[in-house]
Amino acid sequence: MYRYGFERIILKRIVLTKPIIAFVSQLAKHEQVAWLQLLSAKLPNESIKLDRELSYEQKLQCEIAIVANPDPEKLSQYSQLQWVQSLWAGVDVLVRQLTSNNQIPNFRLTRLVDPILAQTMSEAVLTWVLYLHRDMPKYLQQQKVAHWQQHRYFLPQERTVGVLGLGELGKVSAIRLSDNGFKVLGWSQSPKTIDGVQCYSGNDELITMIKKCHFLVCLLPLTETTNQLINSDLINQLPKGASIINFARGGIIAGDDIVNSLDEGYLEHAILDVFEQEPLDKKSLFWSHEKITVLPHISASTHFESAGNIVANNIDSYRINGQLPISIDWRKGY
Ligand code: NAP
Repeated sequence: MYRYGFERIILKRIVLTKPIIAFVSQLAKHEQVAWLQLLSAKLPNESIKLDRELSYEQKLQCEIAIVANPDPEKLSQYSQLQWVQSLWAGVDVLVRQLTSNNQIPNFRLTRLVDPILAQTMSEAVLTWVLYLHRDMPKYLQQQKVAHWQQHRYFLPQERTVGVLGLGELGKVSAIRLSDNGFKVLGWSQSPKTIDGVQCYSGNDELITMIKKCHFLVCLLPLTETTNQLINSDLINQLPKGASIINFARGGIIAGDDIVNSLDEGYLEHAILDVFEQEPLDKKSLFWSHEKITVLPHISASTHFESAGNIVANNIDSYRINGQLPISIDWRKGY
């Protein structure tokens, strides 16, 4: 009896003294509360608290922060952080903010790597490649003016799709396109081997690949190197009549160059899901351009439940064996 009570006191103390995990976010209050409830339910032995509920002293004790679009000023108040786990897959804004003074933070940053997100993105990529492949933009325009015209049908294997970026999302998307009969080429920083995908890497091989692509899908991270990568120089290397899909980040494309190329009739169509400024300005030319499809950043939204499980698993393994998931390379920016 005595022994049981003693162990219980020890256990209680361990639980009580477990450091707080901070939740730092600029999401709407109700969204923060929803995340907090989900994560607390999945991590019943952890004490996760909203940033605004923590005292100065408590912030100094936090080693772990979970973030979703955090204010970098707020994050800088946590000087003892070892690890920051993002709930988002894309952390380009945070990386840029945290390294803006050319300093590298002394904590590790991990982003959400979720197989469900990769499936969702690959579904979006396949959907919109099929949309282009089956000439939907042309038929949409024709309907507006009651114009009856049948366009030549091509087999998927007669279409070459280039995927820029073969990371968590690009690789699964490239494989899904290949499984659906398209000829698929992929480009990454380091060389890769992927069944059904002809892989290219490095700047030297980019143009070799681009020259063959009827459809170009961008799934690169936004970094100093990829900023405005898809500009008129690159567009002009695509075959005439090619189309572009950008599901990555708005800053990777030079918007004016895309519009000019569409207006000149060189590019056929652009599907844009991401923009430098979001929500997209009501005055943006993109909205009304008949060769542009605008999507409101929906190609792969975070799946609440699945993201919660992944973050909880990451934190559990950190507590058990001190292991962190692969983190951002601050120098590469992704
Ligand atoms: P990731 O896993 O980090 O993969 C990035 C890929 O890009 C890697 O293959 C990398 O090459 C390659 N890469 C990076 N810099 C390069 C360069 N300079 N030259 C050639 N290749 C380069 O990223 P991810 O998780 O797949 O995400 C891809 C993009 O999707 C990101 O921009 C993310 O923000 C965006 N995203 C959008 C949505 C949406 O709803 N629209 C949702 C989630 C994510 P290595 O493999 O050699 O490193």
